Amino acid sequence: MNVSSATNPSGVLIRGGTVIDVDGERVADVRIDQYGKMAAVGNLAPLVNETVHDAVGCFVIPGGIDAHTHLHLPVGSVRVSDDFDTGTRAAAIGGTTTVIDYTTAYRGEDPMAALRTWKSWAEPSVIDYGLHMTFTEAVSERTVAECVEGGVTSIKLYMAYPELLQVDDDTIRKILRHSQKHGALVTLHAENGGAIEQLRRDALAAGRTGVFEHANTRPALLEAEATDRAARMAEDTGAPVYIVHLSSAPALASVRAAQERGVNILVETCPQYLHLDVSALQASGGENFVCTPPLRDPWHHEELWHGLSQGWIHTVATDHCPFWMHDRTAGIGGNERFKDFTDIPGGLPGIETRLALIYDGVRAGHITRADWVRLCAEAPAKIFGMWPDKGHLGVGAHGDVVVWDPTMVQSLDAEALHMRVDHSPYQGRQSVGWPKLVFSRGRLVARNGEFVGEPAAGKFIERCRPLLV
Ligand SMILES: [Zn+2]
Repeated sequence: MNVSSATNPSGVLIRGGTVIDVDGERVADVRIDQYGKMAAVGNLAPLVNETVHDAVGCFVIPGGIDAHTHLHLPVGSVRVSDDFDTGTRAAAIGGTTTVIDYTTAYRGEDPMAALRTWKSWAEPSVIDYGLHMTFTEAVSERTVAECVEGGVTSIKLYMAYPELLQVDDDTIRKILRHSQKHGALVTLHAENGGAIEQLRRDALAAGRTGVFEHANTRPALLEAEATDRAARMAEDTGAPVYIVHLSSAPALASVRAAQERGVNILVETCPQYLHLDVSALQASGGENFVCTPPLRDPWHHEELWHGLSQGWIHTVATDHCPFWMHDRTAGIGGNERFKDFTDIPGGLPGIETRLALIYDGVRAGHITRADWVRLCAEAPAKIFGMWPDKGHLGVGAHGDVVVWDPTMVQSLDAEALHMRVDHSPYQGRQSVGWPKLVFSRGRLVARNGEFVGEPAAGKFIERCRPLLV
């Protein structure tokens, strides 16, 4: 039978799976209507002409939301290898039906012009997408309000990378206040940029130029310091903050201390900080594991899993930022070979493997299935203003649904995946558990590891005021 993915004139019925969402875990059928919205969950008989899919033995969960991606992005003389077409196809295959990508307004640039640029880049998306805004200098209250009016309800600020991206505490504080007033959430890259710059200069001056110095010069304590400072500014202003890509136990301790004081501090981590460690930087090809914050010692993993299970860390996103190996080797400066560790473009591929790598934590007993769904779909929907349209399977929500087969074995080698990149951080590993079917607003977009959707079918999501979870 040729199941059309383009339209579902009479809707979709997904039968017999174990449904997991905010309403708990139960065996039930799930109906998506012809408009791509959730119509019913329960014991449902097929309607005439309805497309019926069997989900017996599978988990039926809300489509994943990856709240931290970098697609199409130019970095120095190179560019990330996935664009919004290839990246979102891979996302869909892995069970993610919405991404939120980071727009950057560089110094001197009109933020609204940057937003138009990113929107034009994002048009080929095959799944729904939102955009965050990154300011790299002080902006007016009006600019923050314009972002919110345009459906961009999260603002990113960097506490690191003084040359290009970092803003000072004065600017952070002002933008926290503007954001609070206009209903935006400030997300922070929390590392002490000034101290790290000094460590980097010292390393280079001492002739320590190897890949491992990337990690050596960005210690966890300087992530913890910035996290604590961010929390204190949240406490002082009363505005919530969201820490992106938290990577270490000391930073988590800063978070815990703030949460116990009653501070609204929301936290994201990424699969690489749960599965990979700094030894990868010492091996040959170590440049392919450069990301920021850097990979840590393996003992941090357990602390972060614990933080996920306890609700201290709220979301898992990918910070997907892939580069071809030859671009890694060439470096940002565009030479034959990167001149030192500061010249390597940083970031890892991951948009396709997020649900699988967090489900691995379910299999290992670190977190529950309910945690998995909350971290990968429900919490990002709430925190980034897409609730109740997305992040659950209740009536009226978008028909973004993943039928997860817990027995399907999927290699995590680069050749077996669909991200446009020639290496995988998880080469040699496999996932037990993978999406059997993925629906975006009721349209089948992926089946058994193959993309079956349509080009450019994704919609820009005008996001609302964030909800604290
Ligand atoms: Zn990032």
